[in-house]
Amino acid sequence: MTSRSLFQSGGITVKTCFTALIITIAIIVSTAPAFAADELMIIGHERPDVDSVTSAIAYANLKNMMGVKEAFPAVAGDLNNETKFVLDYFKIPYPEKITNCQYRCKKVILVDHNDMDQAVDNLKIENVVEVVDHHMIDGFIRSKAIFFLTEPVGATGGIVATLYEQNKVPISREMAGLMMSAILTDTVLFKSPTTSPRDVVVVEKLAKIVGVDPRKFGIEILRIKTNVASKSAKDILMGDFKEFNFSGTKFGVGQIEVVDLNDLTPKRASILEEMNKLKDSENLAMIVMMLTDVMKEASDLLFVGNAAAAQSFEKAFGGKIVDNSIYREKVLSRKMQVIPLLEEALKK
Ligand code: MN
Ligand code: MN
Repeated sequence: MTSRSLFQSGGITVKTCFTALIITIAIIVSTAPAFAADELMIIGHERPDVDSVTSAIAYANLKNMMGVKEAFPAVAGDLNNETKFVLDYFKIPYPEKITNCQYRCKKVILVDHNDMDQAVDNLKIENVVEVVDHHMIDGFIRSKAIFFLTEPVGATGGIVATLYEQNKVPISREMAGLMMSAILTDTVLFKSPTTSPRDVVVVEKLAKIVGVDPRKFGIEILRIKTNVASKSAKDILMGDFKEFNFSGTKFGVGQIEVVDLNDLTPKRASILEEMNKLKDSENLAMIVMMLTDVMKEASDLLFVGNAAAAQSFEKAFGGKIVDNSIYREKVLSRKMQVIPLLEEALKK
């Protein structure tokens, strides 16, 4: 049968061939990684928070507005409740979740992190073409010059807002809302010592575009974020957990913010249990879990770890571990008030 007669014959043959073709296409589509070769992925850290998700969205939107059509936002893990609340509030679709960079990620922009330990799995540093961040720079070594923007401000969202201004791109109500939410959550309503005067100014500007009272809106997000009643001990531990490696000591520091520490009392024992499990499975020297009371502005620092790590932890916070913890007033920020102290104490 010639192909000509095949298509002329009609009936079953054509139908069968057509069905076979569709099935073949479906198989190809489902097995081959489907993505544009030139796509530019903008992605925040693993265990994403409001800042890492919304700054990816807002920065991708800015790139799109500037003609970089291949830019798109992605998230490196499941969205937490407060992030969902913010995206739903501004009617923004949830970004694509990408947890493994094996097939994609040819061109990647990192937002809200530059530590490859916190980046999406299997991402090669050579594929990072830009960084926009507000964290310490630790070991980001790249053999080529790239756009690498970090500023000591409260949130990546505030840096992205400034990039809109610099590029004279108008900020929509939705994007203003996302960037404002990022600053409000990352700075815990400006209470965190990571807050810079510019954060306050930027939020004022963005809140005008959104048309909300930023304080009221921030408290609303905080209330969702700090609702621990429905969260398991594991969720609490993993919700905002980061791994570090200083002087050859691998460890993790998690944080949960609540409006009242008493909310966590019934879960304390099971949180410690999960910390021990995770320490063993990840082969960590220690895990510190910050139970942070944002209203009292203090943290109960839970500790599990080996004897050497316990010594470093006590040295870092100038106290004795009692009942698996050291309580510290005025400690709110992992980045500024916990990590540098541990880094120093771990130096041999
Ligand atoms: Mn973050
Ligand atoms: Mn951030």
